Amino acid sequence: MTEFSDLGLSQPIMQALALKEYGEPTPIQARAIPILLQGRDLLGIAQTGTGKTAAFMLPSIDRLINSDKRPQPRTCRMLVLAPTRELASQIAENAKSYSRFSPLKVATVFGGTSLHRNKQDLAGGVDVLVATPGRLIDLIEQGFLMLRNVEILVLDEADQMLDLGFIHALKAIVKLLPAKRQSLFFSATMPKTIKELADKFLTDPAQVSVAPAATTAERVDQYVTFVNQMEKQALLTMMLRAGFSERGNMDRVLIFTRTKHGADRVVKLLAGNGIAANAIHGNKSQPQRERALGEFKSGKVKILIATDIAARGIDVSGVSHVINFELPNVPEQYVHRIGRTARAGAAGVAIAYCADDEKAYLRGIEKLTKQKIEVVPLPENFLAEAERIKKSRVAPAATTRSDQEERPERNRVRRPKSRRPNFGHAGKPKTNRARRRASSR
Ligand code: AMP
Repeated sequence: MTEFSDLGLSQPIMQALALKEYGEPTPIQARAIPILLQGRDLLGIAQTGTGKTAAFMLPSIDRLINSDKRPQPRTCRMLVLAPTRELASQIAENAKSYSRFSPLKVATVFGGTSLHRNKQDLAGGVDVLVATPGRLIDLIEQGFLMLRNVEILVLDEADQMLDLGFIHALKAIVKLLPAKRQSLFFSATMPKTIKELADKFLTDPAQVSVAPAATTAERVDQYVTFVNQMEKQALLTMMLRAGFSERGNMDRVLIFTRTKHGADRVVKLLAGNGIAANAIHGNKSQPQRERALGEFKSGKVKILIATDIAARGIDVSGVSHVINFELPNVPEQYVHRIGRTARAGAAGVAIAYCADDEKAYLRGIEKLTKQKIEVVPLPENFLAEAERIKKSRVAPAATTRSDQEERPERNRVRRPKSRRPNFGHAGKPKTNRARRRASSR
């Protein structure tokens, strides 16, 4: 088995790694790091969760430390392009921790933050700059940044970049880069358009491909329940109440909707049932997104509702369940979603709610993952219980704390947990709030 010490990384990086307690390199790290240390271009087919950030950051930081250049004002030596703000800030966090025993300067620029602050950060030059394409172009156009000194370029999550319409921005950026540079290109999928884009960026690249989208799904226990769109909210409420009850097996739940509006609606309806949740999507301001993510990471609010784009690249450990409130129409997206619960080798549970008009999406997903997803029927008393839930809903402002927050953590009885979704026993209130509500009717 390959060890980090076999990969040829230098001392400051090994010291930083020692603090991470990673054990051994992941497959993409074992394969990509030696190639990148030689200065070669790389085409990586890998998704978030495989350890790809360290795979490109560790050797790049190593090379930056070991060449004796310093950043000049308003320039950067390594440029990492990422599609979303969350991913950009996560990559920058990683870069900072991997370079903590070196003098390298790391900065992040993305939309929704202060341009003035970006300008200040870049004034003296930085070693590593992590950016989303739109903000990067703004800064270049305003004369706060030049790309002529870029030694290493990384394009992360290229398929998502294309989906988000960044193609023109990317082409414009690549024209401003020096021809002599090392380029790294990562994508979870490699359709023809992405391959063409990669050819524009890379010169004679080595290719490393790990866990193609479909196979990460193997680590996740997957279930599907057939339910009318109109009844999904009640099913979700039942499932969360049961999952966060004393006998439940939920710790942290990420719920996906297809639209931003849908995400907000779920948050509101859950609040009406006394369950606290946050939403994260593109219409939220940067501070709102950071707060939602922060509260989810810290466990203060254990339910996060997300759209695909906002969730892409979110790296939160300890997500016990992913619930697909609506199925994605692109099967690869399903794999990305459920991958949030199987971070760095952990296992997890994914539950999909499938309405009649989503059955074709389900077939597409099963075809891609080459797995039949186990069907969990609705509980017998579902309709009556759904009716009860709808009736008991109160205005959101009246109840803001979730069921799981009402019960102190120390009261939780830890039992071996069944991983199959548990809908609880309808009609048998589990929380004091529910008991009070039932008795006051
Ligand atoms: P990434 O695919 O870069 O988003 O990384 C996913 C998660 O795996 C992050 O939380 C990393 O900190 C973690 N990670 C990266 N490399 C390793 C490793 N060799 N061993 C254990 N965890 C790792």
